[in-house]
Amino acid sequence: MMEAVVLHEIAHVVGLGHVNEPMELMHASNGGQVDHGPGDLEGLARLGSLPCR
Ligand SMILES: [Zn+2]
Repeated sequence: MMEAVVLHEIAHVVGLGHVNEPMELMHASNGGQVDHGPGDLEGLARLGSLPCR
């Protein structure tokens, strides 16, 4: 569970916000997720496709 919190916070650092989908890691309150959900991965993929500044 601690690892999920760290992943959540790292996702914030790289630019992800909270989502309304309870099964995503980026939901505001962790309901037992231990890894990124499909929406989390989609968000990270989009961030990764942005040009570096
Ligand atoms: Zn958060």
